[in-house]
Amino acid sequence: MSKLLINHEQCILCEDCIDTCLYDALEICDQILTVNDHCTLCGACMDTCQYKALEVQKEMSQSMDKTKWAGILVYIEHQQGKIHPVTFELIGVAQQLAIKHSYAIHCLFIGNQKHESVKILNDYPVEKVWVYDHPFLADYHEDVYCNIFERCLLKVQPAIVLIGGTQTGKSLAPAVATRFKTGLTADCTELKIKENSDLVQIRPAFGGNVMARIITPAHRPQFATVRHKIMEEAVKNKKPIDNIEYCCVEEADLLSKIMILNEEKLEHQEDITGAKVLIVAGQGIKNKDDLYFVHDLASLLDGQVASTRALVEKGWFPYNKQIGLSGKTVKPDLIITCGVSGSIQFMAGMKGAKNIIAINNDQDSSIFSIAHYPICGDLYKVLPELIKKIKKMKPYLFLT
Ligand SMILES: Cc1cc2nc3c(=O)[nH]c(=O)nc-3n(C[C@H](O)[C@H](O)[C@H](O)COP(=O)(O)OP(=O)(O)OC[C@H]3O[C@@H](n4cnc5c(N)ncnc54)[C@H](O)[C@@H]3O)c2cc1C
Repeated sequence: MSKLLINHEQCILCEDCIDTCLYDALEICDQILTVNDHCTLCGACMDTCQYKALEVQKEMSQSMDKTKWAGILVYIEHQQGKIHPVTFELIGVAQQLAIKHSYAIHCLFIGNQKHESVKILNDYPVEKVWVYDHPFLADYHEDVYCNIFERCLLKVQPAIVLIGGTQTGKSLAPAVATRFKTGLTADCTELKIKENSDLVQIRPAFGGNVMARIITPAHRPQFATVRHKIMEEAVKNKKPIDNIEYCCVEEADLLSKIMILNEEKLEHQEDITGAKVLIVAGQGIKNKDDLYFVHDLASLLDGQVASTRALVEKGWFPYNKQIGLSGKTVKPDLIITCGVSGSIQFMAGMKGAKNIIAINNDQDSSIFSIAHYPICGDLYKVLPELIKKIKKMKPYLFLT
């Protein structure tokens, strides 16, 4: 196990390390510096100590030969064979990451693909699409999907595994990573690769106040999930290639402890992640009844309504309408925020929008720092005026 070593002969009990430690992990007991179990091995104390009395001794897995793991594997997220767009975004990231080490990109499909939807991957720069196709795989059973995922990873031995940060991805990624006793970073917003093949997984932490850079130095494969709309889609091949490999599904892998007793189809709900136009309600809207302004504007522009977390917490909107770090990431062509302050957590979910119009009565509000068209004013005056103008212009507007 990795640990913090203290050289008591060098230590002069100056307490600099104690002051530096953010986790209160160091203390002096009976005139000796000791470390407690709050220690995260971040190494900040080691860097502070002028007397070289501290050292983080990292366990390097004896059995792990990193060179045996190469390439990138992307899990193909789908619903009854229909491929989720996050898959193409993951292939896009893989394309970027692959360059430095000339890695091959692999994809894994688990399901019962009656419509052979994976053939669309012939258009992408994927060396091989491993398809595990069986009627039992039509429904998602976490344990069975894990068995097959594990089998495929043992065969392909990729250095990196990318999975969509979807509901399925959030259940599957940690389960498979645990089988390999390796690291997983969820909801990465940026991925880079080092010369030594360590994946630098960057994501907001501590409520979006810092960007954490996480690596998995001693284990392979390295797992990361990325949410939909965070990365750019992959560039297609000039010509399609036949890259599909149908694999044998072992009966032993299909044994499940999960029994599906009943299935109920959820009512179709509009998904804000796919909207081209979004009107966002924030806490500047004082009463629930006043939301008709945003609904009016949304229907005029053929858009959808979304909200900040503040209004979800008030119970005015369901959670699936929340934009932000703990909500959804959106990338519409146009977003109009109404009475939204622009907290770090909110902006983390929408700053990729092509055109941002922000209406706020506080000229110092943070949302104006990213707005392409800031409107400083009272939304109760601005919105009716805007709606009136758009109604007049609507016959001449071409909204695609
Ligand atoms: C770990 C963590 C995760 C979080 N995740 C999210 C998340 O995913 N999404 C999210 O939204 N938040 C999230 N939050 C909460 C976030 O910090 C903010 O509290 C929230 O975004 C504020 O929402 P708001 O902009 O609607 O409200 P406020 O911050 O209260 O802003 C209201 C704005 O309306 C303006 N205003 C008031 N009256 C008018 C008027 N008449 N006309 C025009 N403007 C007016 C005000 O000037 C103000 O700027 C998270 C917080 C934490 C700690």
